[in-house]
Amino acid sequence: MSVPHKALIVVDVQNDFCPGGALATDRGAVVAAAVSGHLRAERDRYGVVVGTKDWHIDPVGHFAPDGVEPDFQETWPVHCVAGSHGAEVHPELDVDLVDAWFLKGEHTAAYSGFEGHLDGAETGLADWLRGREVTEVAVCGVATDFCVRATALDAVAEGFTVDLLSDLCSPVSEAGGAAAVGQMAAAGVTVV
Ligand SMILES: [Zn+2]
Repeated sequence: MSVPHKALIVVDVQNDFCPGGALATDRGAVVAAAVSGHLRAERDRYGVVVGTKDWHIDPVGHFAPDGVEPDFQETWPVHCVAGSHGAEVHPELDVDLVDAWFLKGEHTAAYSGFEGHLDGAETGLADWLRGREVTEVAVCGVATDFCVRATALDAVAEGFTVDLLSDLCSPVSEAGGAAAVGQMAAAGVTVV
């Protein structure tokens, strides 16, 4: 059987974006487990599975300054500091099912996985996928209204056919999540 030309992109399923984390979304842990279940059942649908990680060293302006309330649009509580527990992949996501990891945001805010690079190398996500003859991607993860949205929209801009696996996503806010799904659909993403 030929390898499918489809990739699954699992966005930022990290402890800080799950309950108990610095920037928790309500369904983060549920999504972590559900993505693992999806992959155990349907791994054959994907030629490759990649994960992204928000990975901050000194992301200028991305964290609210000490004593200033984050606005949760442009500024955020400190989260996903490189090498910290909060930046680790949530334990319910089975990392054995993921082929490659892409890091983003070391020195600047970065919402899209397409701004990232292969862990330990400079290769960007779009080039890496094209190098594996990927033409279609499915996107899932956290948060629907920020990094999932940005990743899906960049995937469209890069010329991939894009599905959003909406049951496998967790928003910062329900209203923001719903608006983001609408934006993705309007951009040509198929909402599954
Ligand atoms: Zn961040």
